Amino acid sequence: MKHKSSTDLLQFTPKGIWCPPADVYIDPWRPVKKAMITHGHADHSRYGHRSYLASTTAGPAIKYRLGDINLQTINFGEKINVNGVQFSFHPAGHILGSAQIRVEHKGEVWVASGDYKLEDDGLAEAFEPVKCHTFITESTFGLPVYDWQPQEAVFADINDWWRKNAAEGKVSFITGYSLGKAQRILQGLDSSIGKIYTHGAVENINEVMRLQGIPLPDTIRVTGDISSKDYPTNLVLAPPSALNSAWMKKFKPISIAIASGWMTLRGARRRKAVERGFVLSDHVDWKDLNKAIEATEASRVIVTHGYTSIYTKYLLELGLDAEAAQTEFTGESIDEDDTPSDEKDTTL
Ligand SMILES: [Zn+2]
Ligand SMILES: [Zn+2]
Repeated sequence: MKHKSSTDLLQFTPKGIWCPPADVYIDPWRPVKKAMITHGHADHSRYGHRSYLASTTAGPAIKYRLGDINLQTINFGEKINVNGVQFSFHPAGHILGSAQIRVEHKGEVWVASGDYKLEDDGLAEAFEPVKCHTFITESTFGLPVYDWQPQEAVFADINDWWRKNAAEGKVSFITGYSLGKAQRILQGLDSSIGKIYTHGAVENINEVMRLQGIPLPDTIRVTGDISSKDYPTNLVLAPPSALNSAWMKKFKPISIAIASGWMTLRGARRRKAVERGFVLSDHVDWKDLNKAIEATEASRVIVTHGYTSIYTKYLLELGLDAEAAQTEFTGESIDEDDTPSDEKDTTL
């Protein structure tokens, strides 16, 4: 492991990733004066900062989740200067508005990538490789076993599963975290099979995105007025926190599925006791992780969350200057849902 240098343009501190000459933090996990936010997931976008800067398209979901915050937005590619440090936001392809943050000072360039994926899902702005000297990356799925199928194949499987359940008179109950994954699933569903019902946490984000002009298929919010007879043959889209809740149990007969990168592991599927696990992630898999890092042409790579130590070792073997950093990012979770606690309310 390399020595941390106090002259590094971005430094890992107890409050978060800090840029000393600008006194700006990227996705800080403790309250700070100036925060730049890569995207709205709970582990990157937290309460309590004096000011926030996020991409224009990430703004509405961040505001919806954090409430009355002092939020400025910036368009992708636009440059902003803070005390002689130049910052710009570039698409990360993870969820709508998700950004990599490029930081340039005295000819030195760093990129903090947040969470990202290379496959263009039609909702998130497509990932843009950004050349830099030092690249800060996640490694949530940084092992060769994580090898995603093209999304078309995954959606074909999801729709086949729905069709089969519909023929058997079952409710198709599928979970994906409410900001990003749920809308991605929604966009891949074949609405000709039946109706799509949504949990409130998912529908609230759908509404935020529709107001931004993002076209999403029609959905029906699950409310008390809908009779249980209405659900069979149709699909219910919910956050992972709704799994095995009392809320879920009113849908019967039911077939339960999870859409997550973790569904690669058979043990994860078994532990959650679901019938189907669809491997669909908003993070890069092994091959795209390596491809993305190569495209940056960075000579130094700092690995944040995921398989940090094992992946750092791999990069070192490739001859890169690599190190792991301690952060409070959590990656993709099937239990925790990547969402704030207010969405755990499943009493709807
Ligand atoms: Zn994320
Ligand atoms: Zn993350």
